Amino acid sequence: MPSKKRRPKFVFVVGGVLSGVGKGVTTASLGAIFRAKGFSATALKADPYVNVDAGTMNPTEHGEVFVTDDGDETDQDMGNYERFLDVNLTSTNYMTTGRVYLSVITDEREMKYKGRCVQVVPHIPEEIIRRIKAAQKMHNADITITEVGGTVGEYENILFLEAVRQMKLKNPGDVAIVLVSYLPVPAHIGEMKTKPTQHAQRALNQVGLHADLIVARGPMELDKVRREKLSNMCGLRKDYAISAPDVPSIYEIPIKLEDQDTGNKILTVLGLSPRKTNLLRWKKFVHGIDNAKKQSRIAVVGKYFATGDFTLADSYISVIEALRHAAWHNGSRSVLEWIDSEEFEKDPKKLKMLKEYDGVVVPGGFGTRGIEGIINTIRFVRENNIPYLGLCYGMQLACIEFVRNVLGKTEAHTVEVDDATVHPVIHVNPSQRKNIRENRYGGTMRLGAFDCQLKQGSKARKAYGTALISERHRHRYEFNNDYRTEVDAAGLKIVGVNPESDLVEIVELEKHPFFVGVQFHPEFKSRPMRSHPLFRDFIKATLA
Ligand code: GLN
Repeated sequence: MPSKKRRPKFVFVVGGVLSGVGKGVTTASLGAIFRAKGFSATALKADPYVNVDAGTMNPTEHGEVFVTDDGDETDQDMGNYERFLDVNLTSTNYMTTGRVYLSVITDEREMKYKGRCVQVVPHIPEEIIRRIKAAQKMHNADITITEVGGTVGEYENILFLEAVRQMKLKNPGDVAIVLVSYLPVPAHIGEMKTKPTQHAQRALNQVGLHADLIVARGPMELDKVRREKLSNMCGLRKDYAISAPDVPSIYEIPIKLEDQDTGNKILTVLGLSPRKTNLLRWKKFVHGIDNAKKQSRIAVVGKYFATGDFTLADSYISVIEALRHAAWHNGSRSVLEWIDSEEFEKDPKKLKMLKEYDGVVVPGGFGTRGIEGIINTIRFVRENNIPYLGLCYGMQLACIEFVRNVLGKTEAHTVEVDDATVHPVIHVNPSQRKNIRENRYGGTMRLGAFDCQLKQGSKARKAYGTALISERHRHRYEFNNDYRTEVDAAGLKIVGVNPESDLVEIVELEKHPFFVGVQFHPEFKSRPMRSHPLFRDFIKATLA
């Protein structure tokens, strides 16, 4: 599809007024639109954090850590890019301030600057531009969309904006700038205010940039008066202020933007001819979500606590989306409820409430808190035939529960919680132990895509419909193969194994409607119109 001779084009999405108003979803939706116009497109995130990757950030503060096939620990927005563009991204699609500086400093140490003074400007923006162009090349993209994290006017993203300025200066016709801004409706006034967005455009002007198009987020539609005001006061072409009110499902956003011909407007800025957008599949998908007849109630059990800026939904966004895709595939909707596992530690009688749910998911996690409550949960769903999907920690804890309560080894544990346990069902290999001892935490887990061989006749094999799969990982601990024979013989079947390392990747209960634990994170590979097979069959079981 990518045309050989066409000049690559670059779209930058920046934020104004507030963060958290949907810059990531707008970026992803523009990608979906360009793809639906027949362009090859890719998307990048430029994160202002000094962290080298998102792996060292607390998900309750920063949101989910999204893992790419090549093992990069990235921002949750990358998940939306993959889901909306329906492509696999790589570490070239993600940068942080820390990562940019680290490569400049490493180059300096290796004499790559040949004795010159290495300066914040131009060397940092140059490195940013190099990375944007590398992503374009790697994906052979006609259109490369880069989301600049944070909002304009902050110190933190100023060097990213300087990189945009330089790219625009060099090739003005190849760069378009989209400002996603928020238009508040103060309760005592009751009308939408454009002034903060005018200030955001001015803040962009101060760093030598000018937004070509404004996506006006807010609680309601942009009316004619405000559309014209934004055009006038922010210096936009006619109708280049796009209305983007809150919608029930993020998957409506590409459709909403295309109703206003947003894609063609950006193409015009980039000097490209307008094209038709084929959003038929998206429309079907959204219609299906809105009109689902069946419903299942899913309990997501984990250690939860009051979060900072981010909510639980941000920490588990890929799990939530995967459940949504699976529900759509089954013609249903899933209603998720978050249950704090510590409830089941204080009062095990409360476990009975799980009977009200059609299925239970235990998502990935780390550490000690709430673990016994999760183990109690898993015992309850195992004994009561409630469909269960365990993701990463949810698989490890299912193995521990089984060894404790079926094999009778009550001290069974993971060394992550009890380093001296006599039954380390989940253990750690020597190289990982060394990482922990030497405080080497950044980017050292078992990360990215690994193969998994599936056992004939298993539920997993049936779900995938193929014998060899590849899934993404992010964990430090592993199932201990000393327990493999016993566990399998007693009915928790080892049905997925990595062919090179012989590590256990999938377990499932033989005599249970659906009880599957996976060492990997299938949620990362679920796509709106291509539901992940395990989520799909889990939801199917919850509807049975
Ligand atoms: N804490 C476990 C490990 O490190 C599981 C990780 C996860 O659930 N992502 O192995």
